[in-house]
Amino acid sequence: MAQEKFVREITARDVDFAQWYTDIVLKAEMADYAPVRGCMVIRPYGFAVWEKIKEHADSRFKATGHTNAYFPMLIPESLLQKEVDHFEGFSPEVLWITHGGDEELAERLIARPTSETMINTMYSKWVQTYRDLPVLINQWCSVFRWEKTTRPFLRTVEFLWQEGHTVHETYDDAQEETLRMLEIYRQVIEDEMAVPVILGLKSESERFAGADATYTLEAMMHDGKALQSGTSHNLGQNFANMFDIQFQDREGKLATAWTTSWGISTRLIGGLIMVHGDDRGMVMPPRVAPTQVVIVPIAQHKEGVNEKATDLFDALKDRFSVKLDDRAQYSPGWKFNQWELKGIPLRIEIGPKDIEKNQVVFVRRDTNEKSFVPMENIADAVGDMLDTIQKDMFEAAKARREEKTFSVDNFDDFQAKLDGQNVFLKGMWCGDAECEAEIKEKTGATIRCIPFEEEQEELSDVCVHCGKPAKHMVYYAKAY
Ligand SMILES: [Zn+2]
Repeated sequence: MAQEKFVREITARDVDFAQWYTDIVLKAEMADYAPVRGCMVIRPYGFAVWEKIKEHADSRFKATGHTNAYFPMLIPESLLQKEVDHFEGFSPEVLWITHGGDEELAERLIARPTSETMINTMYSKWVQTYRDLPVLINQWCSVFRWEKTTRPFLRTVEFLWQEGHTVHETYDDAQEETLRMLEIYRQVIEDEMAVPVILGLKSESERFAGADATYTLEAMMHDGKALQSGTSHNLGQNFANMFDIQFQDREGKLATAWTTSWGISTRLIGGLIMVHGDDRGMVMPPRVAPTQVVIVPIAQHKEGVNEKATDLFDALKDRFSVKLDDRAQYSPGWKFNQWELKGIPLRIEIGPKDIEKNQVVFVRRDTNEKSFVPMENIADAVGDMLDTIQKDMFEAAKARREEKTFSVDNFDDFQAKLDGQNVFLKGMWCGDAECEAEIKEKTGATIRCIPFEEEQEELSDVCVHCGKPAKHMVYYAKAY
């Protein structure tokens, strides 16, 4: 009964992916709709996941010399005039603030869609000589984009993110920083979240407004669509020129600085759900799971069961994030379903028969596999199992991506592969933005990235769409 009830509450993933996603977000209590258009409330369970992601990222930022600061959310209109090109990229999504109390403001303000303007204005004041460089600052905050259609975690009017903004002496230093942060994002997303990503360069039309180069991490969701999971921008001297970030160089001459910016957001949680979740609910990779282990006593009214379950809890609580569910008013089956819905990586069952045999039962959330494990050295066994789950989840996601990735060398095949399904297509491209736009128009697929060299392969020497000489091998896909 309980099993049926829970399963009925979640739409099957293959029946309606969008509804399945919404069901998980709401039923697993990750987020809820807010009484304000396009905004969500991140509930404690979803926020705990964000805190884990944040810890994994923040510790790496700090280990590479970055520090955190906080800049105002409100940006005056006059500052925006300095960076017309960049601002035009964001203007349709800008949220204007026009009144203070009853009075109309003399100068309108915007709620930051990103903070290049604010932060670079401060940097022009702080950077005087090469001795002030590099500046390596990160900010954890929320930003605002007046989106027309919204979905929890994937696209909301206000969302949480971090934005790193750095200033350097040379182009090489800025480029090194851009790639260093991309690699840190790869570690957070692949090693901690168990989500495989393809790293590469964005085409010019997909580039961040005002950047010389935008690097991206692209993940494949369970439905075969791509999710841009993080970006790192080499801004060249564009922003330094707009905001007069100049310094006295080592020869005593006035030089223009080089800047970068990079960000990841709560969007990653949407990706986590869409990569790992299944028809029974969320599946959390152990390294970002707010609770890694749940202990469920079986026949807990029998003598000694609750005591043994408590001993087990005590043996694990210092090493893992563990919950003991000894609520007497719920049946074990009801509890199993609830924790499966939440995606807790490992369930440990302990009942009278197990106590007799001095063992416990492990049930993996990712594969549903059951195993009997001796009580001796139980903490080590749990640690090993969590490591195995983490690794297997990554490998499974990677295998699913590979199954849905194809190489194409002509446009008929390109369209056929995208007919009625979502896949990643590797194909050649001429480098022309108009050709790229036509491909999007005809198929809905965009160029996700020009992958780094090691992933490149020569498929043909002509563009898969127009037949002109090809410049790059790229990944094409429909994206969120
Ligand atoms: Zn072409």
